[in-house]
Amino acid sequence: MVLALLLARAGVEVTVLEKHGDFLRDFRGDTVHPSTLSLLDSIGLADRFARLPQRRVTSVQLPIGPDRSLVTVGNIGALHGKYNYIAMVPQWDLLDLLADEARREPSFRLRMNTGATSFLVENGRVTGVRYRTADGDTGELRASLTVACDGRGSLARALPELGLEEFPCPMDAWWFRVPRREEDPSGLVGGIGDRLFLALIDRGDYWQCAALIPKGSDAQRRAEGLEPFMDRFTEAVPWLADRADAVTSWDEVKLLDVRLDRLRRWHRPGLLCIGDAAHAMSPVFGIGINLAVQDAVAAARHLVGPLREGTVGLHDVRRVQQRRMPTTVATQALQRVAHTQVIEPLLAGRVAFGAPRRAKRLTELITESRWLNRLPAYFLAYGALRERPPKESLR
Ligand SMILES: Cc1cc2nc3c(=O)[nH]c(=O)nc-3n(C[C@H](O)[C@H](O)[C@H](O)COP(=O)(O)OP(=O)(O)OC[C@H]3O[C@@H](n4cnc5c(N)ncnc54)[C@H](O)[C@@H]3O)c2cc1C
Repeated sequence: MVLALLLARAGVEVTVLEKHGDFLRDFRGDTVHPSTLSLLDSIGLADRFARLPQRRVTSVQLPIGPDRSLVTVGNIGALHGKYNYIAMVPQWDLLDLLADEARREPSFRLRMNTGATSFLVENGRVTGVRYRTADGDTGELRASLTVACDGRGSLARALPELGLEEFPCPMDAWWFRVPRREEDPSGLVGGIGDRLFLALIDRGDYWQCAALIPKGSDAQRRAEGLEPFMDRFTEAVPWLADRADAVTSWDEVKLLDVRLDRLRRWHRPGLLCIGDAAHAMSPVFGIGINLAVQDAVAAARHLVGPLREGTVGLHDVRRVQQRRMPTTVATQALQRVAHTQVIEPLLAGRVAFGAPRRAKRLTELITESRWLNRLPAYFLAYGALRERPPKESLR
């Protein structure tokens, strides 16, 4: 939607196909990072965005201090600039805002309930897609460039020449909600327990909770019962002990099959892949959306000229991958280090945080070092590389 809006603003004819009838999904990434907030500002949408119901997250805290006290490991609020917070906004509100804005452009069309089913290929070049609507109607849509931004189940991933490279992940994630009280901590708070790692996102009147569990253990863990799990949950976040009965059924606990992968090639003639279609990110650092949005901004900047002139070719889409691949590789490398060095040992019960002397030293190191305090916050806020939208799309 970001790419479509930026291109349509510059007068490029764009059609977006969305297989669902709306953008409403529960438990999607709802983090709008400072890089996206600055983008919205530069394209004149800051005021409309600010009117959306939202919660601002300015810190990341982990229970790694003495007696498992919370230590701020990412102080986003201390970053310079206007947008020193992560806005938590339901993803559908953001997408609706972008779609509404794009509809003002005569060159933009959004076809909901319309899923792409396969690519049209002529003389080795992708020339568009076949689609099916929710009513069962089928058709073809031709385009000088097709952008696969259809998530980690992308149609493009079935093209063998793009080469899907997968990396092992030690964990899956459970998502559920627990009520939040005003006296609770705020922001993004971690919890560490017996073979359990938790990330709790402050959503105002509730906590959006992610519990990391060993990969493939969903069925076995559920069979062990909800009560033992909630006991371990409250042991990891003792300040939530009074809400052990907040989750009453496994139906309230949704599984996310965690994947970490990327395409070796994000393009072929007539086709470009961006976002999760090109690279599924681990939930570590919560930056999947940030990367997807930044891919879209980079794609718009590199493609707007050739698309307007009708000259878009392989070298143009190749430049988008050349620009975005190093960031993707570096971010995934950091996520893989976090998987092997922190999450895997933690889920196997091989690390114990909170040993008093070590915890005290670690706390001092993090809180006293300007570098250790700011760098994770900056990375979370902006990612490894910031992109500028094309000047034709600014308002
Ligand atoms: C439970 C969960 C929690 C997450 N939490 C976070 C978080 O806190 N922070 C963060 O940064 N990231 C998070 N992520 C990851 C983040 O949601 C993704 O990285 C990001 O949404 C990728 O954006 P995208 O546009 O590439 O793909 P998607 O957001 O997956 O969008 C793809 C779109 O394409 C549509 N589509 C799919 N197939 C077709 C088709 N054949 N035809 C037409 N339309 C199609 C889909 O309906 C969807 O609307 C989370 C993901 C999940 C699943």
